[in-house]
Amino acid sequence: MKALVKKFPGIEGVCLEEIEEPAAKAHEIKVKVHAAGICGTDLHIIHDEYPCNAPVVMGHEYSGVVVEVGEEVDRFKVGNRVVSLTAVETCGACTYCNQGLLMLCNERKSIGSGVDGAFAEYIVIPEKAAYKIPESVTLDEAALTEPLACAVRCIMERGRVDAGEFVFVSGPGTIGLLALQVAKANGANVVVVGTSRDEKRLDLALELGAMAVVNMEDQDAEEQLMKLTNKKGFDVAIECAGVSVSLHNCIHLLRKQGLLIQMGLFGKKIEVDSDLMVMKELNYANGFATEPTSWEVALRLLEYKHVDVSRLLSNKLSIDNWKEAVRLAEQKIGYKTLLLPNGE
Ligand SMILES: [Zn+2]
Ligand SMILES: [Zn+2]
Repeated sequence: MKALVKKFPGIEGVCLEEIEEPAAKAHEIKVKVHAAGICGTDLHIIHDEYPCNAPVVMGHEYSGVVVEVGEEVDRFKVGNRVVSLTAVETCGACTYCNQGLLMLCNERKSIGSGVDGAFAEYIVIPEKAAYKIPESVTLDEAALTEPLACAVRCIMERGRVDAGEFVFVSGPGTIGLLALQVAKANGANVVVVGTSRDEKRLDLALELGAMAVVNMEDQDAEEQLMKLTNKKGFDVAIECAGVSVSLHNCIHLLRKQGLLIQMGLFGKKIEVDSDLMVMKELNYANGFATEPTSWEVALRLLEYKHVDVSRLLSNKLSIDNWKEAVRLAEQKIGYKTLLLPNGE
């Protein structure tokens, strides 16, 4: 089968190859991949900025259809549409595993970095890692369950947003527009900000339920923002851009004792005004990808249409065009870029 494999360091170490098709063992299911999204982590793996077990098939945000089940599998049958957790291998016995915190297990191996992932025609995963896709959700939409579950993890499980609160979302990319909708689903009044190059993204934020959007390059941006919160500042700020000026804005615009939620990754050390955080007694939350609980909530948000990901499915390319797909993702053209390992 065709697979996009990280074989050795350097971008030349990423190759589209013909590899042996995997088979499902007793407790495993084999899934024909429908679509697999390119995520920031994949770009980091390509550039050797995120650890991986090369050679490994990349890709962890996907949806597909079960084509084979192991003999001990009882929850799934051939034809089921599924998504799956990324942390498919853990020790099952440590403090974290015992609490269902799979991402924190020292022996964790995730698909797409630790073990073979979804940029391939087929993927084999343990039955216990898989979830059925609700009927009302398309396979394309389901491919965004993983990033949505990341937003659920940060905003609802590690952080908290209450009804009526003023929430500031900095960065209107895929993650920002998912964060907006998760905060909105919790009853918040959400303001999304970006820069002049985000004009279209900010328009979409309004369509997806933002109470207001602001271009941070406007002379009076701060004034506009403070006015929106009746001069009190925001209760919650969600940093989704992964750039230091965005983090600075979040800290600055939060009210005293507000909650800062870090969703973006900076990819390097950055300067933080930590004294200002102390003087405002800010609370802080973040999240390392997803846990099983986040997937259950994310799938329910999709099923009952609290979150609309259909507008974020802007680029769909055959896996043969993976270089072009990586370019679109790196240059942040459109929103989510999906690879189709089995064609349209
Ligand atoms: Zn991801
Ligand atoms: Zn463990």
